[in-house]
Amino acid sequence: SIEIAGVGKRFGDFVALDNVSVSIPSGRLTALLGPSGGGKSTLLRIIAGLERADTGRVEIEGVDATDLPPQKRNVGFVFQHYAAFKHMSVRRNVAFGLQIRKRPKAEIAARVDELLHLVHLEQFADRLPAQLSGGQRQRMALARALAVKPTVLLLDEPFGALDAKVRKELRDWLRRLHDEVEVTTVFVTHDQEEALEVADEIVVINDGRIEQIGSPDDLYDRPANDFVMRFLGPVT
Ligand code: ATP
Ligand code: MG
Repeated sequence: SIEIAGVGKRFGDFVALDNVSVSIPSGRLTALLGPSGGGKSTLLRIIAGLERADTGRVEIEGVDATDLPPQKRNVGFVFQHYAAFKHMSVRRNVAFGLQIRKRPKAEIAARVDELLHLVHLEQFADRLPAQLSGGQRQRMALARALAVKPTVLLLDEPFGALDAKVRKELRDWLRRLHDEVEVTTVFVTHDQEEALEVADEIVVINDGRIEQIGSPDDLYDRPANDFVMRFLGPVT
């Protein structure tokens, strides 16, 4: 599991996270859901090690990660505006993390084939990122994040920039991928419907505080307070 205990984060005088504690279960797909500015990305970046909390602790699968740099946390991440290496083919982009870890060539080739198959990009292996659609590019980003077999996969609105139809396809596909790979996945979204449809667990964050943690059914049937009720309220 990912254990967040008493995490606080300020930017100047502004409190972005106010004493946040949450336990994110292993092997599940958990959504961080909440309105814009609520602190979702800040919390995800703290889990990734890209941002340091002012107070509190972060433990990842039994290891105290509070002071570990990102590369020692064994996490993979994908952000909304994903930066791929523009001059490298899809295959080389996916292989990159394994190359810098100096894995043997044959192992890299086999792993990359496996990943491209997983994200259904086999036939695009030799293209450049610019020659992919937005959805294909996000699938490449996921393959890249999964290459090094992370224990935790962190996704910050990875489908946010895409149109509704592609979003829905990718969302269904992420669910299937997750069931296949079973990596602990934390997924940021401000889209209630997306969280309710895809996640096993939902953590609702607003104004730097956790409003509720529960399954989609829990939240929908038993909202903990007015905020959750209004925020989840009539799904359109
Ligand atoms: P969104 O859905 O819009 O992405 P979010 O829930 O991800 O929102 P965060 O990015 O975590 O929100 O930001 C939480 C608050 O902290 C916001 O009010 C934001 O302006 C502020 N904030 C985030 N990063 C910084 C920073 N580096 N410097 C100053 N303020 C920041
Ligand atoms: Mg954000």
